[in-house]
Amino acid sequence: MHPLAQLDQTYVWHPFTQMRDWLRREPIVITRGQGAWLRDARGRAYLDANASIWTNLHGHHHPKLNAAIQRQLKKISHSSALGLANEPASLLAEQLVKAANHCGPAAARHSRFKHQPRARAALDPAPLSKVFFSDNGSTALEVALKLAYQFTLRNRGKMTQKNKRRRAEPKFLALDGAYHGDTIGAVSLGHIDLFHQAYRSLVFKTDQVMAPYCYRCPFNQAKPDRLDARKYRQCHWECVGRIEQKFSRQKRLGNPYAGFVFEPLMQGAAGMIPQPGGWLGQATEIARSYGALLIADEVMTGFGRTGETCHVDARVIAEVMKHPIRGKLFATTRAGVVPDFLCVAKGLTGGYLPMAATLTTQPVFDAFLGEYEEFKTFFHGHSFTGNQLGASAALASLDLLQTQASVLQRLRLQKLLRTELDSLWSLPQVGDIRQVGLVAGIELVKNWRTRAPFDLRERAGIRVCEGMAQRGVLTRPVGNVIVLMPPYCTTPAQLQTMVGALRESVRACQW
Ligand SMILES: *Cc1c(COP(=O)(O)O)cnc(C)c1O
Repeated sequence: MHPLAQLDQTYVWHPFTQMRDWLRREPIVITRGQGAWLRDARGRAYLDANASIWTNLHGHHHPKLNAAIQRQLKKISHSSALGLANEPASLLAEQLVKAANHCGPAAARHSRFKHQPRARAALDPAPLSKVFFSDNGSTALEVALKLAYQFTLRNRGKMTQKNKRRRAEPKFLALDGAYHGDTIGAVSLGHIDLFHQAYRSLVFKTDQVMAPYCYRCPFNQAKPDRLDARKYRQCHWECVGRIEQKFSRQKRLGNPYAGFVFEPLMQGAAGMIPQPGGWLGQATEIARSYGALLIADEVMTGFGRTGETCHVDARVIAEVMKHPIRGKLFATTRAGVVPDFLCVAKGLTGGYLPMAATLTTQPVFDAFLGEYEEFKTFFHGHSFTGNQLGASAALASLDLLQTQASVLQRLRLQKLLRTELDSLWSLPQVGDIRQVGLVAGIELVKNWRTRAPFDLRERAGIRVCEGMAQRGVLTRPVGNVIVLMPPYCTTPAQLQTMVGALRESVRACQW
């Protein structure tokens, strides 16, 4: 065994890993990276087909990111955000606010409330204008949750004085299968049963509502087909109806939901579950109409991952070549939804350093203003809040993302990914292929004609990924869903290798 692998097995405890399995075989020790390539201690090369768990946007060892970090290193690496401001964090906050408000055509045009000016006005959200930094996706959600909780209590406090109404505990609604991180607050917002069982008495209760999982939707009347289930589904938007029911029931109970938490356009760790066109607009509009705060978790979807548009063809690419665009970096900006909280992490620094941010609005910020002795302060912070190295990497990454070359590169890659993924329909073990921009989930099934799933104990996803690793392509499954999330620098040939390894591995497995 390689001495580094030996050290790892002696001392390191890995996340979300059954360590007994881990100790059974020599781990891959990554020592270098270049573009979409990773290299291990034995000199073997692998393609990084999930961008190092969804973080590494521009590939590894990127000259621009390296240079930005080196420039900052020569000045200072870290100073505290407690009592001090710093250069890169201030600049980054401005850039994040600009990017988050760079919206597409307003969703309002399709509003169900367009003929009711009063209802519409209540739905008009304030823009995102303030940035709270932290270290990772879980803390970004934790911050949003605590802010939303306090904001709601304070608003209700005012109401109590006016209306003498009972002050109810703020409640939150999230989607089935939701994953929002691993700190206790973030776990509480999530709805993965396994994690809730493990921490039963530590987590607090949040409600869940049907997610639009078209492929396995009980309301989808369509027979299985060799297409993304969103394209051939037959339903009456029962999932949106469920959301309306939840909100109206909670309102009747006298305690309307304080917040609606969601991953926009695609749920990641839930199994790469994409939302059919129009779902996000309808769901968020319902939430707003009941006065709930919108908490958008863009930890996975942020920074260009979900693409510019649903469909990319030669015409779209030609348009962008003629008229440069800045790129819509968030799923919410793409969908024209303005949340009250926008949580980002994973790709914020291009996957170089651990950093996260929670963006919110002026009204939320204002609710925490007061005299010192009123103690309205937001009591939350981390040692590395606003880290200078992280912020300078994030600035360089944002710069890169907004160049026309980068937008074009992403559009081309998205188009090619679609073509490549289409070739997988010939495999009988492929039940659904779900692509949104530059992320794809390929759901493996026992029988595509009946959608019969593999038992998790059969480890179908894990086996296919092991086969891919043997073919020099690294990714991880979510249950029986294989995830492809190539770094944006991936070349056409590399993308073909990634999908090819998946195809060959499925073929080679004993089913
Ligand atoms: C990864 C992830 C998180 C948690 O982020 P960490 O940095 O791992 O704490 C939260 N939400 C979503 C959608 C994620 O994909």
